[in-house]
Amino acid sequence: MHTNVTVQTEALVTKIRFNDTQAIGVEYVQNQETYFAGVRNEVILSAGAIASPKILMLSGIGDETELAKFDLPVVVNAPEVGRNLHDDLFISAGFSIPQAQDVPVYPYSLAPAVIFASTENSSSVVDIESSVGVGTIKGFPSPKHSFWLWPNVMHLKSKGTVTLRSSSPEEAPVIDPKYLTAPEDLQSCITALQLAIDIGNQSRLSQWRESQIAPEPGADLESYIRQTADTTYHYCGTCRMGIDESSVVDTELKVRGTSGLRVIDASVFPLPITANTAAATMMIADKGADIIIKSSDRA
Ligand SMILES: Cc1cc2nc3c(=O)[nH]c(=O)nc-3n(C[C@H](O)[C@H](O)[C@H](O)COP(=O)(O)OP(=O)(O)OC[C@H]3O[C@@H](n4cnc5c(N)ncnc54)[C@H](O)[C@@H]3O)c2cc1C
Repeated sequence: MHTNVTVQTEALVTKIRFNDTQAIGVEYVQNQETYFAGVRNEVILSAGAIASPKILMLSGIGDETELAKFDLPVVVNAPEVGRNLHDDLFISAGFSIPQAQDVPVYPYSLAPAVIFASTENSSSVVDIESSVGVGTIKGFPSPKHSFWLWPNVMHLKSKGTVTLRSSSPEEAPVIDPKYLTAPEDLQSCITALQLAIDIGNQSRLSQWRESQIAPEPGADLESYIRQTADTTYHYCGTCRMGIDESSVVDTELKVRGTSGLRVIDASVFPLPITANTAAATMMIADKGADIIIKSSDRA
C-alpha cells in the first residue's frame, strides 16, 4: 500500500504544460471534465511508443513544421519525435495435419515451442524467433488440423513514423510503419519463411504433416510475405534515446531542450532488440526509477 500514490483511472492525458521549457504538470480529461495535475519535481511520460510521441507533439515538442500544420505552439523544435518507429514482423508457414491424428489442445499458448535462428543479414545476432503451434490454439482462426511456424523476424532496418492526424487528443495518430521499405528486410523475411517451410517439411514430421497449406508450394514468397506479414506489436523507438543532440531523450531519459520531463517506456529504445519487448521495457522502467531516485538525492 503506497499512501503517497494517487492513481487516476479512465483518464486521458491531453498535454504536458510548460512554463517556458520547464514541465509543470499534465492536463487530463476524466468524465468529460478537464483537470490539471501539477508537479513539484518532474513529469514522467510512459504512454508507449505510439502515444508518448503523440502527447509530446500535442504539448509542443516535435518537428516545428508538423506542429505548424495544426497551429500547435512550439516549445521545442525536436524533429525526431515520432520518427525511428521500429517493429518486428510475423510471417507464417502452415501445414495440414492428417484428420486421423488426434491434435493436441493447449489451454492457452501461442507457442508450445520456439525456434531461434539467424539470417545472413544479421549473422552476429539471433534475428528469427519462430513460434510453433497447432490450429487449435485459442484465438487462431486456422484449421483445427494444422500446425504452424510463425517466425517473428527481428532487427529489421525499415523505420516508420508516428505523426499527428489533428490537434485533438481524442484522435489516434497516423502510424506509418513503412514495413519492408528497406530491401534487406524482405530478404530476412524470405530467409525466415524458407527456414519455417524447410522445418515443417522435415521427414521426422511426416506423421503429422499431410501437406503444406501456406504458402502454397511453389507460391511466390515475396508476394505471400507482402500479403500476410503482420505486426508483432513490438513498436519501439519513437522517442529515441541517444548521446547525439538530435535524439529525443538523453541517457538520463530527459527530453532534450526541456527540464522536468522524462520519457520512460519502449519509445526510448534507440535500436530494435532481440526477442519480445515487454521485459526490456520493464528493465528501462527499473533503470529509470534508479535514475530518478539518484537525481532527487542529488537535488
Ligand atoms: C496484443 C499485444 C501482444 C503482445 N505480446 C507480447 C508478448 O507476448 N511478449 C512481450 O514481451 N511483449 C508483448 N507485447 C509488447 C509489449 O506489450 C510492449 O512492448 C510493452 O507493453 C511496451 O510498454 P510501454 O510501457 O512502452 O507501453 P504500454 O504497455 O502500451 O503502456 C502505455 C500505457 O499508457 C496508456 N496511455 C497511452 N496514452 C495515454 C493517454 N493519453 N492518457 C493516459 N494514458 C495513456 C496506455 O493505456 C497504456 O496503459 C505485446 C503487445 C501487444 C499490443
